[in-house]
Amino acid sequence: MTTPLLGQMMDTPLNVSSLLAHAARHFGNTEIVSRRLEGDMHRYTYRDCEKRAKQLAQALIALGVQPGERIATLAWCGYRHLEAYYGTTGFGSVCHTINPRLFPEQIAYIVNHADDSYVLFDISFAELVDTLAPQCPKVRGWIALTDDAHLPDMQTPVMSYETLLAAQGGVYEWPLIDERAASYLCYTSGTTGNPKGALYSHRTTVLHAYGASLPDAMSLSARDSVLPVVPMFHVNAWGIPHAAPLTGAKLVFPGKDLDGKSLYELMEAERVTYSAGVPTVWLGLLTYMKQAGVRFSSLNRTVIGGSACPPAMLRTFQDDYGVEVIHAWGMTEMSPLGTLAKLTWEQSQRSPDEQRELREKQGHVIYGVDMKIVDPDGNELPWDGVAFGDLHVRGHWVINRYFRNEDSPLVDGWFPTGDVATIDPDSFLHITDRSKDVIKSGGEWISSIDIENVAIAHPAVAEAACIACAHPKWTERPLLVVVKRKGIDVTRDELIAFYQGKVAKWWIPDDVVFVDELPHTATGKLQKLKLREIFRDHVLPSALEGAA
Ligand code: ADP
Repeated sequence: MTTPLLGQMMDTPLNVSSLLAHAARHFGNTEIVSRRLEGDMHRYTYRDCEKRAKQLAQALIALGVQPGERIATLAWCGYRHLEAYYGTTGFGSVCHTINPRLFPEQIAYIVNHADDSYVLFDISFAELVDTLAPQCPKVRGWIALTDDAHLPDMQTPVMSYETLLAAQGGVYEWPLIDERAASYLCYTSGTTGNPKGALYSHRTTVLHAYGASLPDAMSLSARDSVLPVVPMFHVNAWGIPHAAPLTGAKLVFPGKDLDGKSLYELMEAERVTYSAGVPTVWLGLLTYMKQAGVRFSSLNRTVIGGSACPPAMLRTFQDDYGVEVIHAWGMTEMSPLGTLAKLTWEQSQRSPDEQRELREKQGHVIYGVDMKIVDPDGNELPWDGVAFGDLHVRGHWVINRYFRNEDSPLVDGWFPTGDVATIDPDSFLHITDRSKDVIKSGGEWISSIDIENVAIAHPAVAEAACIACAHPKWTERPLLVVVKRKGIDVTRDELIAFYQGKVAKWWIPDDVVFVDELPHTATGKLQKLKLREIFRDHVLPSALEGAA
């Protein structure tokens, strides 16, 4: 092969540190505001943040941390967590964000599997750290993200973050790192089996930040004040801690209080224009706002993803509060962004109903990701909005294997997502279900998400989950599990009647069960596996009819 003609350009590696360095230099006075666990508000700038991130890098180097080593975090959204993102990756070590809502055994498994050398933790996790430390003997040190005055009383010997930083001057030049070197390690929440690690690189993190910032993706700008409700341990808060410094957006971190009132007050106080989170957390905010009779004065768009955004929620945001909902789909294995529902000019000229239908879907891919749907034999299915099949993806920021696992999950070079979807002639993706949640009734598939969306549109329903229930004739039939809204009643028969004309007759749930609450995963999604276990022995009235 002949040597290609090389471009005559500077060879600047795509390094994570360059994002913060850019913000510190060009948006040096832009604020980062955090609600601290200590109880007060903390404010500083990108310039201050970079200095402290450098102090952290110096402190970790002084502790003997080598490039490539994993440094874990167990922390909420806050400025010290942001410093940890950049202070670790900036000198070549890997930032491993851990979801503290997982079971302690799962966290211990993850820490040991990742071989984390230090763990930085918020003081609210002191007890958790005391449980973990004896199970994680290879961790060389536990660092509490606070100062000496706030160090919790613990069995585990810990260091204070502020004392470590105070010993360093912060005069440090970020080294140039091979852009293919690892940057972040995120584990999936392991709804089946042990959690699996997705190891990103500097190159993929920076490219993802570029892609996320685009106007038809997350659309972030220096005019925005961004509050990520999605935690920094959930796929790096969907890349916002990278896209915000890239664009110069102000960052507002909510700490650990994600209830409706706390979020609303912070959004108003900090002129938040932009947010992102899973549907469950928005449920709390919208309920609070309705009860309190308040409105947003600055919020104008929000990304909703992680699980399907119910159309009723989309309508409330847009019609009642004038907030644009950007419905997005992605997964840990893809950093996480895949698709976002933003309309083209032509689509925005269609009737309001047609536009709404498009916005309710998961949207269009952003450059950097490609997708296809396939049948069980791997044949590509048409993009007609009707054919549904297994969704496969590939692209710049999609993993090709899991961390410390030699088996490749790829099929013909594509990553199988485990989701079932249609793609319409507008190239809009519509997630029908996770393949393990789809209800298989008489050889046909019923989308549990569609069934839930209808239920949630009923005024008496606060939350709903639809799961497969065993049936002697149809193999599986849909069972709807519902949490009622406080103060409004509804009966099983009324809810079943509510489905008339809204879905195909054979999709209507066979039974409805009312519960006080639904189980959620560590990232706030419905835990359908657990629900299926709980209702394993549930007998559908239709099953008895069949037996009679
Ligand atoms: P986990 O839920 O296991 O923690 P992820 O956060 O990576 O892991 O979840 C990715 C999965 O979440 C996707 O494969 C898909 O099933 C679901 N998901 C994410 N966004 C959406 C969405 N907008 N609509 C429907 N499902 C979604």
